[in-house]
Amino acid sequence: MKHNIFTAEHEMLRKTIRAFVEKEVAPQVAAWEEAGRIPREFWRRMGQLGLLGLDFPVEYGGGGGDFLSSVVLGEEMARCRSGGVAFSVLVHTDMSSPWLTRYGTEAQKRKHLPGIIAGETVCALGITEPGTGSDMAALSTRAVRRGDHYLLSGSKIFITNGVYGDLYFVAARTGEGPPGRRHEGISMFLVERGWPGFTVSRRLDKMGMRASDTAALAFENCPVPVENLLGVEGRGFQQLAAGLQRERTMAAVLALSGAAQALEDTVAYLRERQAFGEPLAAKQALRHRVADMATEIEAARRLVYHAAALYAAGEACISEVSMAKLFATEVANRVAYHAVQLHGGYGYMREFHVEGFFRDVRLYPIASGTSEVMREIIAKRLLT
Ligand SMILES: Cc1cc2nc3c(=O)[nH]c(=O)nc-3n(C[C@H](O)[C@H](O)[C@H](O)COP(=O)(O)OP(=O)(O)OC[C@H]3O[C@@H](n4cnc5c(N)ncnc54)[C@H](O)[C@@H]3O)c2cc1C
Repeated sequence: MKHNIFTAEHEMLRKTIRAFVEKEVAPQVAAWEEAGRIPREFWRRMGQLGLLGLDFPVEYGGGGGDFLSSVVLGEEMARCRSGGVAFSVLVHTDMSSPWLTRYGTEAQKRKHLPGIIAGETVCALGITEPGTGSDMAALSTRAVRRGDHYLLSGSKIFITNGVYGDLYFVAARTGEGPPGRRHEGISMFLVERGWPGFTVSRRLDKMGMRASDTAALAFENCPVPVENLLGVEGRGFQQLAAGLQRERTMAAVLALSGAAQALEDTVAYLRERQAFGEPLAAKQALRHRVADMATEIEAARRLVYHAAALYAAGEACISEVSMAKLFATEVANRVAYHAVQLHGGYGYMREFHVEGFFRDVRLYPIASGTSEVMREIIAKRLLT
């Protein structure tokens, strides 16, 4: 089916990324999944190809493109057969570094953006804490001003690119905020690997997304220079909230693209596999299941592209993005379930891609705002 949100330039970009993913990424991902990390050369190669700053300003080395270029990147990276690789890349390109282009000072941008775009500086986003995730306003990591620096103390958990990252976008409390308005006391900071008082306290083992490293972080009186405050002190929550629509759209894009690929795998398998004297593709029960999977994917695609186009145009899109994220990530999980089921025993085997997709895709209704939180956002706009 034809979708008209992409231009001819986007389609050319898609071709380039698809060729790169097929030739240089897909053949490597099994080893990276096993190792639980992505090699530095991969990030540099992405940088060389100009894929890490597609819509960042050209004066810092970016591509000067639009947000839909990033959507193309997400769709094509998701096809590399490792959700972890795609997720790590998108955390870098869409879920952390855009805050620097949006809120950074000229000096911060000059210092960090060239490395981020070249793949020399890998970014991570540190919001979630052991005691709070969905309730971002309740975070308790503190940054206390002491002259020309803040002292950062607290812990973060589930941080993607956290073990091997270089630059961490960390949310911390700089004040309490008035009663009932705790979110007003939150600020964002740029924190660099290796600073005193900052340690990766644990590397976390997880169900899927195995190629992306996930960390627990500890800060103990870590001195952060005042020039590393990102944006305005006390406005971190609002700054984060403004960027969440991009992050959530991209999570939906990754889930959706993976689901489309799992459907392709399933169709190919059903055509090939024989049972009771005919291909599985001839069985009506399975044909109808495939029809349902394709229909749900198409419906999700419409929602995701609509939300992406609104976001790209700078229009209000909180409900649309929340609906797209909720629906696409849950559709992708249903597709994963049925893709494994239709592969029979082979679907449970590591050598079949649907097995990995089934594990990877379970993350998306949890990360970047859970399905329950998406429902709350949608309902709030309808009912209050
Ligand atoms: C692999 C992985 C990678 C991640 N990467 C990052 C990262 O890079 N940076 C980062 O900061 N975070 C990251 N996260 C954290 C992720 O964003 C959080 O796990 C998520 O926001 C949920 O927070 P929580 O785990 O504390 O769950 P909780 O907020 O404790 O929620 C537990 C359950 O309660 C439900 N719930 C909570 N509040 C409500 C409510 N008001 N109404 C109804 N139900 C509710 C939730 O939907 C969920 O089902 C990652 C998580 C994972 C698993």
